[in-house]
Amino acid sequence: MNNMIKTLTETIRGPVITASDTGYDDARAVYNGMHDRKPLAILQCVDSADVMFAIAAARESGLDLAVRGGGHSVPGFGTIDDGLVIDLSRMNYVLVDPVKKIANVGGGATLGDVDHATYPFGLAAAGGVVSTTGVGGLTLGGGIGYLTRSVGLTIDNLLSADVVLADGRQVTASDYQNEDLFWALRGGGGNFGVVTNFEFQIHEVGDVVGGPMFFEFNDAQAVLECYREYMMHAPEQLGCFFGWQIAPPLPFIPEDRVGDLFCVLVPCWNGPHEEAEQVVKPFRDAAEVKAELFEFMPFPMLQSLFDDAVPKGMQNYWKADFITELTDDAIGAHIEHGAKTPHVSSSMHLHPINGAAQRVGADDTAFGHRDKNFAPVIVGMWDDPAENEANTQWVKDYYEAIHPYSGSEGGYINFMSDDDDDRAPANYGANYERLAQVKAAYDSDNLFHVNQNIVPADTR
Ligand SMILES: Cc1cc2nc3c(=O)[nH]c(=O)nc-3n(C[C@H](O)[C@H](O)[C@H](O)COP(=O)(O)OP(=O)(O)OC[C@H]3O[C@@H](n4cnc5c(N)ncnc54)[C@H](O)[C@@H]3O)c2cc1C
Repeated sequence: MNNMIKTLTETIRGPVITASDTGYDDARAVYNGMHDRKPLAILQCVDSADVMFAIAAARESGLDLAVRGGGHSVPGFGTIDDGLVIDLSRMNYVLVDPVKKIANVGGGATLGDVDHATYPFGLAAAGGVVSTTGVGGLTLGGGIGYLTRSVGLTIDNLLSADVVLADGRQVTASDYQNEDLFWALRGGGGNFGVVTNFEFQIHEVGDVVGGPMFFEFNDAQAVLECYREYMMHAPEQLGCFFGWQIAPPLPFIPEDRVGDLFCVLVPCWNGPHEEAEQVVKPFRDAAEVKAELFEFMPFPMLQSLFDDAVPKGMQNYWKADFITELTDDAIGAHIEHGAKTPHVSSSMHLHPINGAAQRVGADDTAFGHRDKNFAPVIVGMWDDPAENEANTQWVKDYYEAIHPYSGSEGGYINFMSDDDDDRAPANYGANYERLAQVKAAYDSDNLFHVNQNIVPADTR
């Protein structure tokens, strides 16, 4: 093994970090503090050639391989004990072509890196709702965010991807080359290779009117009923997620309400600014807004508004479904368990995935469940590992209560926890079988298995 590490140190241009290096603890840390894993080496690749060397080393040594983009995976797929980690965080360049409205993005960039590069041109990519999230994992799983209803999922805006495959070759996947791989990459997660470059269609989104509106918890029924109906036909330039929120000590929160549980809506209106109030009027009519930061702001500001509330290193346990309809019974279950939200960083978020995202055919990409209208995720996030049992139990109880109303077994692969691995077939739905075929064609030995894994068709 020592020889392999020595060779890697000589061939890879980025740092190769092992337990004997002072930066090891920082380099091995991922977002979810639950995963305190100790890789044999973290290979901080700087280009495709580095990735090729790293993949060859993993293949030849037989060591387990984890690939890390932004490191946000709740199951900790960006790290592994005793194996090799390809860490792409140094490949975080973003090149913007403002004329064609295209961005080329390195495989280890974060959403914040993309926002930083695109905003000065009045442009934005379809991303998520927290700027520290990695473009790599988010995109490969689908990508749900503020712009989903207006421009689709992140994958619906992917034009091509450069991928280093298990055999060490780099290929480009697009609608015109390696089409089966391109299909699989759009929703199939990190199963097919290491994406070194994503090429995205980006859009005219500069400043938006957005930010949280806090309603009394006791108004949750009215707010949720309004939300489920309005989001089905609201203008598509309106993104908006629902959530529970224990009020943090922020300037717009009345001091005597800090620590109280509210329900929140977080709209993002990227239509004409003067229409913003009219567009959110149904929300204001549903119940009185008790505190808010709904205002004109740069899109990157909205996409980073919650970053401080969800810092790296906390304990995380999440569960998720897709749903077609938010029934009255489901609302009752949400309110019962939302009332017990245990921590200021814990919540349940309900993201709309209709609008432009539903205009893509069910089997046009590997993303399962295009027919669903919402993606709920129960986010358990807390500081103290001594409280793991109580907090994971809150997520499990909440999930048990709402799952019977979901109408399907599948959920969004990027909102899963490590005990959800057996849900992969349900998460991909009708697309799973084709994914298994593509996996067999590109990674028959399952080198890329530290992910929501698709078992190669031939080996099952
Ligand atoms: C605070 C927080 C907020 C979030 N908000 C959203 C949201 O708004 N919308 C949403 O859709 N999701 C959201 N997510 C979920 C997020 O999409 C997933 O956690 C995703 O896996 C993160 O990608 P990453 O690159 O940061 O993670 P990593 O842990 O680095 O990787 C996750 C998986 O993707 C693979 N991978 C990553 N990059 C590459 C690459 N370049 N090539 C090949 N494989 C790669 C990894 O191997 C691994 O299997 C959020 C997660 C967190 C923790």
